[in-house]
Amino acid sequence: MPSAAPRSSIASPSASERAAWPSAARWVPDDHALPALEAAVAGCRGCDLWRDATQAVFGSGPRGAEVMLVGEQPGDREDLAGEPFVGPAGALLDRALEDAGIQPDTVFRTNAVKHFRHVDKGHKRIHKTPSRWQVAQCQPWLLAELDAVRPRTVVLLGATAGQAVFGPRFTVGDHRGRALVWPEGVGPEPERVFSTVHPASVLRSRNRQEDYDAFVADLRLLSR
Ligand code: SF4
Repeated sequence: MPSAAPRSSIASPSASERAAWPSAARWVPDDHALPALEAAVAGCRGCDLWRDATQAVFGSGPRGAEVMLVGEQPGDREDLAGEPFVGPAGALLDRALEDAGIQPDTVFRTNAVKHFRHVDKGHKRIHKTPSRWQVAQCQPWLLAELDAVRPRTVVLLGATAGQAVFGPRFTVGDHRGRALVWPEGVGPEPERVFSTVHPASVLRSRNRQEDYDAFVADLRLLSR
């Protein structure tokens, strides 16, 4: 694993600089086996986020999992560990899955964006939501993971995950807890797709218990 030392933030590229980034598609191998994808994502230069992150964080879970959960991006802990959902939000997600009657180790977890976007504040690295452009640049990795895992159900956790599939106008509030229609032409179509909040938003909530219960209720849709 590369050094865990925090690095200094680099300004996001300007519009003209962005035009020079080719999107992740160039780095996605034809072989969509999970080990091949994971090896290749480490070298992706499809947007600027690789420069300021420790490493790419690829999805994790059983190949052929029935359910794929898609979050936003790796957080500070995930960036250092190289694994998705290993921080506090991941712990809450595990508890919520169990409370919804789903074994956490049966689901595949990934993120819409594979490198950690953040700003440095003193010794802390503060999460920064990926831009629409960065989400779009990274989409080929998500679609390749979908092709590798072929889940029956996809759950989009939060607005960024929704936007990675449905485009930049997607909001969770409009679609939460309902079966959605997968957009035509966007990678391999799962049988079912749902959206709910990201577990990190439950952790930040002032009404944490109420929001946790609503999150579990959304996840219960998976066992139907
Ligand atoms: S965030 Fe995605 S597109 Fe950008 S460098 Fe990382 S893997 Fe590539």
